[in-house]
Amino acid sequence: MPANTSMGTCDLCGTTGRKAEMARHVVACAAERDAGAPTEPLLHVRIEAAGAPEYWLHVEARAGATLQQLDALLRAEWLECCGHLSSFRVGRREVSKRTSLLGLAPAKTFDYDYDFGSTTALRGKFIALRDGTPIRPAVRVLARNAPLPWRCAECEAAAVVLCPNCVDVEPSLFCSKHASGHPCNADEIWMPVVNSPRMGVCGYVGPTKRSRSRRADVAGPFAVPEADRA
Ligand SMILES: [Zn+2]
Ligand SMILES: [Zn+2]
Ligand SMILES: [Zn+2]
Ligand SMILES: [Zn+2]
Repeated sequence: MPANTSMGTCDLCGTTGRKAEMARHVVACAAERDAGAPTEPLLHVRIEAAGAPEYWLHVEARAGATLQQLDALLRAEWLECCGHLSSFRVGRREVSKRTSLLGLAPAKTFDYDYDFGSTTALRGKFIALRDGTPIRPAVRVLARNAPLPWRCAECEAAAVVLCPNCVDVEPSLFCSKHASGHPCNADEIWMPVVNSPRMGVCGYVGPTKRSRSRRADVAGPFAVPEADRA
């Protein structure tokens, strides 16, 4: 997918823009929302999917926030299917999750793997440090890529489901109409199209927590029952 289709949305104000524009926007947008003194150092980190930079998050963290807290955010927003192991690395060196974000910042970039079997690999980059009002929770999303415009393999309609049997051999994405004609069609086979680099991998069906607009990503005739997402 061409990089210039990578649009994104600010989680703080709802503004949309291109990826590079959003990197600048969130700095001003977060500062505008500061409540004034007292202030402390806040880190601005960009997370991208390795090999798929159209998936991205801008994250802000208190300097003392740990990699454990960043791991929890990445799982909640993008990754968690069944509690797989994960790790942070700088080069080949694994970094303890007790490390603070400020402690890792001199490395400038880091790698992250979720699930050592069907791995989803991410890359992190420290963008800036600013003084701002302490945030709660200690790690938050500032902005994210807009849902990618996946199309049905059989028509021009938006794809709503993915066939896990066919995910490695096209076509695997379908609108609700063409899903019913797909040879693999059967109860409970379908996985939802979701805004995550882990779409179609293992049992991933979307964010584990919170509601908001991204829930709409999985709405439709093949939506996963609420109870199955707990
Ligand atoms: Zn904004
Ligand atoms: Zn899993
Ligand atoms: Zn279709
Ligand atoms: Zn199939």
